[in-house]
Order: sequence, then structure tokens, then C-alpha cells
Amino acid sequence: MPIIPIKDAAGIAGMRASCRLARAILEELVLRLEPGKTTGDVDRWAGELIAKSGARSAFLGYRKFPGQLCISVNEEVVHGIGGARRLGYGDVVKLDVGIILDNWVGDTATTVGLGAITPSRQRLLERTEASLQAGIAAARSGNKLGEICHAVESCVRAAGYSVVKEFVGHGVGRKLHEEPQIPNFGKANSGPLLRPGMTLAIEPMVNEGGEQIRILKDGWTAVTADRSDSAHFEHVVLITEGDPEILTQSSSVSCANLAAEKVPVR
Ligand code: MG
Repeated sequence: MPIIPIKDAAGIAGMRASCRLARAILEELVLRLEPGKTTGDVDRWAGELIAKSGARSAFLGYRKFPGQLCISVNEEVVHGIGGARRLGYGDVVKLDVGIILDNWVGDTATTVGLGAITPSRQRLLERTEASLQAGIAAARSGNKLGEICHAVESCVRAAGYSVVKEFVGHGVGRKLHEEPQIPNFGKANSGPLLRPGMTLAIEPMVNEGGEQIRILKDGWTAVTADRSDSAHFEHVVLITEGDPEILTQSSSVSCANLAAEKVPVR
């Protein structure tokens, strides 16, 4: 069994601060998104905001990643690098912000539509966010880790979409990637027990089409093999004695609310 770090009170306070800042930067970037801007513009803004906050990027230089944040558009799944790609009306844009503040890592992601997006893109975003909320709901002391994985996967499958298998959520704390790995699929009654003080980044990556991905020549950007759209949402949660505490802010979308909606057969 992997050893999963347990944060003490000081660690929890540090994680609260870094996660809150990561989310604030993410939300500021979302406000600035507009058609005509390039993904490189967004990367530059991220660098400025992170520096102004007294933090530094957790991604820049990580295994030689060249960006301040990950920005991925439409068929790009995750790990896109800011550059010349110009954002257009109707695009879905994934922003993933990772920062280090006082040696604690905050990590959070969202997907937003630029202007009016197609109903199928809207549905993909809603269902992916709902699968994140389903995973968070399972992040309770006494549950096994597999409960989270299974909850995410069930929500995604019920919507008729596929989960990306190559990339997973993760423990987060002093380091960007700590134990455990948190796949977006798996058996409910499996894996280590969740305990108070664990801080976990849950991050479903969901493809509208098939689960296969490819990596572009830049060595980083993951795209769907069938060029279907993909969405990604991420929160860091603190396991407590009671309800999970979302360190990177909560959301109103719930899987249960969407479950009554008719699901197309694929
Ligand atoms: Mg992450």
C-alpha cells in the first residue's frame, strides 16, 4: 500500500492558502478569456498573476514543462502549452493552474465555453463537472479510495462519455504529485482507506468520443485520437471526519440533478 501523507493543522492551513490562491488565479484568467486572444496570452497573464501573488508556477519546469499553466482547447485533453493558437467563439477552453505558495501546492482546473457553445459541448462540460462532484461526494473518511474512482467513472459512463485512462488525479501537498494516484475509473471496494488530513486532487478528464488519446510532437499536449471534444475539471479536497472540504472552491452542479436527464445511446 502506498504511504499517503497526512497533513497536520499547519499543513492544512498551508494547503487552504495555496488552493484558494490557485482558484483565484484560475477565475481571474477565466474572466480575461476572449476570442482573438492566443493561448500564449493566457500563459503570460498566468505568469504575471502568479508572480504578483508571491507564488510560483508548480508546472513551469516540472519535467521541463515550458508553460506557466496548462491550456488546452477543444480536442486537446490536458497539458496544452500556451502559444500561437488563437481562441475562437464556441471553443471550449481548459485551464489548469498549479502554484506553489509557501512550499504548499495548489492545483485546480476548469473548462469554459467562449461565447455560445453547442448544446453537445455544454452537456459535456456539465456532465464532466458533475462527475467531479460525484467523486468529491465519495471522498469521505472510512471510504476506500476506489469509491472516488468508481463514482467518477459511473457518472461519466451514465452520460455516454469515456474517461481518459493515461492521466489520473493525485495526492497533493508539499509536492505536486504525492500518493495516491486517483484514476477516474475503478472498483469501489478497493484501494487504501481515506483518512482525515489527506489532501487529494480529483480531476476527471472526459472525452465525448473514444477514450484513446495521442501526444502531440511538443511532447506534452494530449489530444483525443478521434478529435472529439474533451473536458477537464479539478478540485483539491481535504478529507475530514465529516464532509469533504473543497480547498479550491465548491460548485453547484451535482450528478444526482443530472441523472434524470435522458442519456443518448452510443
Ligand atoms: Mg492535478
